Amino acid sequence: MVTRRKFLTNCGMAAGAAGFSYVKLGNSGILRGNINTGKSAVMDFRYKPYELHLKHVFTLASGSRSTTPVMLTEIEFENSIGYGEASMPPYLGESHETAGLFLSKVDLKKFSSPFLIQDILTYVDQLAPGNYAAKASVDIALHDLVGKLMNQPWYRIWGLNPDKTPNTSFTIGIDKPEIVKEKVREASPYRILKVKLGQGNDKEMIQSVRSETNKPICVDINQGWTDRNMALDMIHWLKEQGVVFVEQPMPKTLVDDTAWLTQNSPLPVIADEAIQTIADFKNVQGVYSGINVKLMKCGGMLAAYTMIGMARALGLKVMIGCMTETSCAVTAAAQLSPLVDWADLDGNLLIDNDVFDGIKIRDGKVSLPDRPGIGVVKR
Ligand code: MG
Repeated sequence: MVTRRKFLTNCGMAAGAAGFSYVKLGNSGILRGNINTGKSAVMDFRYKPYELHLKHVFTLASGSRSTTPVMLTEIEFENSIGYGEASMPPYLGESHETAGLFLSKVDLKKFSSPFLIQDILTYVDQLAPGNYAAKASVDIALHDLVGKLMNQPWYRIWGLNPDKTPNTSFTIGIDKPEIVKEKVREASPYRILKVKLGQGNDKEMIQSVRSETNKPICVDINQGWTDRNMALDMIHWLKEQGVVFVEQPMPKTLVDDTAWLTQNSPLPVIADEAIQTIADFKNVQGVYSGINVKLMKCGGMLAAYTMIGMARALGLKVMIGCMTETSCAVTAAAQLSPLVDWADLDGNLLIDNDVFDGIKIRDGKVSLPDRPGIGVVKR
C-alpha cells in the first residue's frame, strides 16, 4: 500500500486535504482550474487524490487494510461548487492511478448546462468501460451542483420523505473477542449491527457480540462460505441468534448453490459482490432475495436510483451501502435511503480524517441534512 504522503510525494504534490491548488496528477492527469475563479458559464471539473485513514484495521473474509484511497472531485459552475468522491477499496480494482487516468478524460466544458444530467452521465459512462467509482465521483459532484443551483436537497427533488429514512447498521469487522466486544460498546448509538463473518470463527464472532448486546444483527459473509449445507445450517443458527438477514454468503460464481440456499433459507439472502451495475440484475433474479446498492459499484446516484426502482419491480429487497468514504459519498447515498429497507451508511464513521460534514445518525436512524444538493459542507 502506498502511503498518502508517499503518493503525494511521488506525484510532486504538497500534502493537505482542502483546496485544489495542486496542478499535476502524476503523468496521468492535470487538475484543471482554480477554486473561486468567479462566475463561469462553463463547468469546470477538477479532482484530487486523498487517502482515508481507518480508525481500526478492517478485516473482511478477503483480507485486512488500514487505509482506503479516494479521489475528491469538484464541478464549479456560476459560483456554485458541487462535491463528489470516488472511494476505491483495492478489491474493486480501481486506484488513484486508474481514477486519475479516467478523470483526466472528462471534459464538461462541452456541455452548456449542468442540468443535462442524462447527457453528461451518458458521455462520462462511454469514456471507458468499468471505472465505476471514478464515474460515481463525477455523478455525485454533478448532482450536488444541480441541487445547489436549484437550492434543494436531492431527497426533496426526488419527492422522498426524510422522515422515512431507515436505521443504519454499524459494521463490526472480524477480530478477536475482546476487540469485537469493544467495538460493540462503541456502537451503542446504533440500533442494528452488521457483523462481518466468513473467516472460520463465525460463532465466536456472534457470541462475542451477543455477550454485549441483544440488538438485531445482520451478517456479511463477503463470499466466505463455500459449502451450501454448512451455510444453511449456519443461517438456521444465526436466526436463533437474532440475525435479520445474510449478505453475500457464498462466492458469486456459485449461482446454483446460492439459489438453493436462498430458496431454503429462513432469512433473506442479499447480493452484494454478485451485483455491481444495472447489467447484473440477470445474475440475481431468482438467486437472491435482495440487493445491496452502492454508489461506488454502480457509478453514482442516477444509476443507484434506477437500480432501486428495478429491484422493486422484481420484488427484491433493497439495502443501500457504502465503502469507507468521507461524508461526501455517504451523504449522497443517504439521499436515497427513504427508498430502501436497510441502510449500511457508516463508512464515514470508520475513518479519522473526514473532510466533509453531512449525514448524521440520530438515535440509530439516518438523518438527512437540510442543505441543498447532496447536503455536505467542507470541514
Ligand atoms: Mg457486503
